[in-house]
Amino acid sequence: MLEAIAIPILQDNYIWLIRQADHPNVIAVDPGTSSELQDYLTTHQLQLSKVLITHQHGDHINGLADLKQNWPNAEILVPALPFQGERLAGTACRGGEQFSVFSDVTLQVFHVPGHTLNHLIYLFTPKSGQPVLCCGDTLFSAGCGRLFEGSPEQMFSSLQLINQLPENTLLCPTHEYTLANLKFARVIEPDNIAVIEQQAKVEHLRQKQLPSLPVTLAAERTYNPFLRCEIKELQQRWQHESAIGLFTFLRNWKNNF
Ligand SMILES: [Zn+2]
Repeated sequence: MLEAIAIPILQDNYIWLIRQADHPNVIAVDPGTSSELQDYLTTHQLQLSKVLITHQHGDHINGLADLKQNWPNAEILVPALPFQGERLAGTACRGGEQFSVFSDVTLQVFHVPGHTLNHLIYLFTPKSGQPVLCCGDTLFSAGCGRLFEGSPEQMFSSLQLINQLPENTLLCPTHEYTLANLKFARVIEPDNIAVIEQQAKVEHLRQKQLPSLPVTLAAERTYNPFLRCEIKELQQRWQHESAIGLFTFLRNWKNNF
């Protein structure tokens, strides 16, 4: 059984810890800081075997230097493509790589340009049970990442790649933006019951300071407007004749929402 644990850091980031029951080795994704993760590992007597980096924004990598010192044998997976002329030290990935982890889990790397040009996402597929996708700043619950470097076309096809994964895939984005995203989704689809229900559910969780994540892809398809641009009624409502036209319109609007 694969487990995805959200460790809250900074304002609204999570470091995701992927582990398998009874396995002392764990994998961490996007360490924007190090102390919260280090405390968790110490308390639960776990060993850090790999660190995965989706992209090189500071809130995803600033804990790396400390972790390397504490865990010199941990393998670091990083984008092969440079970001602002810099390449991180580690195992360079371009997408298409495959690793075996926790003895019987497949870890696949995909290249999904959009938020940055070198953005990677990481899919864990166990022999049985739900796949887990660490999707960084590409897909958020009820939303998607800003286009800092890529084009709307690139982000749209990156989201389509995610949308083709098995529907029981657990999505683990790096930010807790869900409530704000649902407010936007409510404006886009005021009559969508799934948006209204998810809003009530997430408000309840956030009041108790619990994460709204992870979420399944099946659920996201019902309320995330950025995964619903193919729906003809939605295109008509906002006067766009294609999915990419609607996507571009929504992404621009969300920037100033
Ligand atoms: Zn980012």
